Amino acid sequence: MALDSARVVVGTGRGRLEIVEVALPEIGDDDGLVLVETNGVCGSDLELLHGEEHGYELPMILGHEPAGRIVALGDAAARRLGLAVGDRVAVNSQLRCGSCAQCRAGGRCRTYPGTYGTMPARVPPGLWGGFATHLYLAPGATAVRVEESVTTAELAFHNPLANGFEWAVEAGGAGAGAEVLVLGAGPRGIACALAALHSGSPRVALTGLAHDRARLDLARELGVQHTHVAATADPAELRDALGAHRVVVDTTPGSGVAVRQAVAAAAPGGRVVLCGLKGPGVRFDVDVDDLVHRRLTVVAPPSKTPGSFRRAVEALNSGRIQLGPMVTASYPLDRTGEAVGTLTSTDPGRALHVRVDPRT
Ligand SMILES: [Zn+2]
Ligand SMILES: [Zn+2]
Repeated sequence: MALDSARVVVGTGRGRLEIVEVALPEIGDDDGLVLVETNGVCGSDLELLHGEEHGYELPMILGHEPAGRIVALGDAAARRLGLAVGDRVAVNSQLRCGSCAQCRAGGRCRTYPGTYGTMPARVPPGLWGGFATHLYLAPGATAVRVEESVTTAELAFHNPLANGFEWAVEAGGAGAGAEVLVLGAGPRGIACALAALHSGSPRVALTGLAHDRARLDLARELGVQHTHVAATADPAELRDALGAHRVVVDTTPGSGVAVRQAVAAAAPGGRVVLCGLKGPGVRFDVDVDDLVHRRLTVVAPPSKTPGSFRRAVEALNSGRIQLGPMVTASYPLDRTGEAVGTLTSTDPGRALHVRVDPRT
């Protein structure tokens, strides 16, 4: 690789990836450049590999969970971010101009035609993803400084953890006095459980499927008090097995059954959080009078905000969330496709979290 160029993974549709060489940009007053240390692989990367089916413009730069070290930074960007060259950072995938109508209304910015990890490759300077040696720190980017004591595996978990803080804590109200039930033992579910424990929830329970037993054991090592293997479509299964909870967080993909079980397991006056998109056509029947009688609140927040992103990185920096025993796997940039492919595995020994480390 030439010293003045980066290697970047580009999704070209129908599941195909290419690695292209992109010239490093000139850095001005309000932007910067990050040497990527790691980028977590996320379930939505599987969809993005087939971006044409989801309305994305191809080819597209992939990798929306980037972290690394700042190697160039303009003066205005340094002041705006409170960061300096040499700082190790987690980069928020969301890009915000801060001045368009959508930004001011708290919606998705329309000035940027994508986020980190979903940007069309045609948009200069082309370094818009974490499956790459370098990442462009745009004027609309935000990043939070990471302590050197945080391991690369922990750092790679920053984005699931940010969603965990958003869903379990910000939206669900997990914290002191609130017992929490999390459905789903993937990275999302484990992240929600860790965020709840970190925020002071006295009791956290986690459910998974039969092939998640190793992950449920891991969750216990990380401090989760109760685990349960969900085995039926009975709406009452989780309530009967684990009791009623003040906060119920459903991170499972693509199933209305889990939503009914989540609602049934909520304590009177409790909150049910449905985490992110479940996929087209997922529906569930609900007894509306039951919701009213039990005074339940059901919320469906999409994903992290700048606030929950910062909380997650600060939690990692605190050293109180230690992912030492978390089974992780690291892949080099050339094997990004293989790394994303592991997400479809149901092998009981599969890694909980997979990342691409472009320096390897
Ligand atoms: Zn994602
Ligand atoms: Zn905007």
